[in-house]
Amino acid sequence: MSVIFPEYVSAMIARLRECGYSAYAVGGCIRDSLIGRTPNDWDITTSALPQQTAEAFAVPPFRTFIGNGLRHGTVSVYMDGAPEELCEITTYRCDGTYSDYRRPDSVTFVRELREDLARRDFTVNAMAAAPAEDGGIEFHDPFGGVNDLNAGILRCVGEPHRRFTEDALRILRGMRFAARFDFVLEAETAAAMHELAPLLAHIAPERIGVELQGILLGDACSRIAGEFPDILHRILPGCTPERAAPLLSRTENNLIRLAVLCADMEEKTLDETLKRLAFSREVRAIVLLLIRWRNAPLDTHRALCAIADTFGENMSGGSPGTNVYFDFRRTMDGDTACIRQAEAELREIFASGACYGVSTLAITGRDLISAGIPAGPAVGEILQRLTDAVIDGETENNKEALLTLARQLDC
Ligand code: ATP
Ligand code: MG
Repeated sequence: MSVIFPEYVSAMIARLRECGYSAYAVGGCIRDSLIGRTPNDWDITTSALPQQTAEAFAVPPFRTFIGNGLRHGTVSVYMDGAPEELCEITTYRCDGTYSDYRRPDSVTFVRELREDLARRDFTVNAMAAAPAEDGGIEFHDPFGGVNDLNAGILRCVGEPHRRFTEDALRILRGMRFAARFDFVLEAETAAAMHELAPLLAHIAPERIGVELQGILLGDACSRIAGEFPDILHRILPGCTPERAAPLLSRTENNLIRLAVLCADMEEKTLDETLKRLAFSREVRAIVLLLIRWRNAPLDTHRALCAIADTFGENMSGGSPGTNVYFDFRRTMDGDTACIRQAEAELREIFASGACYGVSTLAITGRDLISAGIPAGPAVGEILQRLTDAVIDGETENNKEALLTLARQLDC
């Protein structure tokens, strides 16, 4: 067990202690350190009141940033010249009553570290540590976080029913952490998640979207989808986790996982739901495209050209790339000979520079107009028919041949 404190974190803890306060790194950074992952960020918890924290860091090499967090006792501090070395420093606090199933009505600053750890969601997130004077580490784990971490168990601090009623977002955080670390949800914690899932109706959809993305990124997302289909149904009405769960571990791509989970949803409902959950326009477009093409034929040259034209050679702009498409097909249907054959043919098409769509045709609409074809919808139609003719091998893909053919077409 070891926590290696970055220098800026040690410096901030030391500064608070120098000013007479107690201070510890807390939460995710301790959990991640103990399991050998690099923490995303470091949070500090302290006995100093927010104003006292701000004063303690009003000296070089520190800078403070006091934003919205102050209401909750948080001051952001970074070491001069290194904005990425930022810590959120929060006063020990306990939360008041919760009347909106998400945020406490008030927070109360408290004197004891233990009380601050008690308000945290899961035991593995309720540990604190600081460099000790003897060069070792001062470690606080009043709720058995280390044991749970070693056993791979995610367990609420305190009574699960109460903790999820206070803040229903914790239900999804629980799924996310369990998926990320491949942890088992302790039985009472899991039971309360199922029971209280209706409270998710009170949670802002964009927060739900963020947690859902986290769940889909987790290594154990497949198992979690299988264990909590009821909760997924709630946030993605019409999705089919029962069918999707065993397939999700076939890919690590979270966009594909989302498409697999939602493959049976009606397109309009899916788009509206993803929009509500604040998924980006690009993600929505890709997921919808994958699902729309989920059963496209793979057995003719024309069909493959249509796939190439729709998905593009590589991921760029709004096109996911044919590799993403085939990864999706393989996730849905298994690694079939038919998919492998189609992929090989497409690789050849791309490598040979052959035309597979209007974008790879040797002439453009402008060429047609310069050649005397009146501008208007007919131009698009001609381009499409020329493309089909090239793909079907009826003409060469060069300007001259295409112009000759264009003049013969009756559009
Ligand atoms: P991540 O690696 O995803 O950032 P994290 O554990 O650091 O995980 P944060 O959301 O950054 O999660 O929160 C930091 C800490 O604050 C958590 O470890 C936990 O102790 C506490 N915390 C965050 N959100 C909640 C919540 N909704 N309820 C209770 N405690 C919470
Ligand atoms: Mg964090």
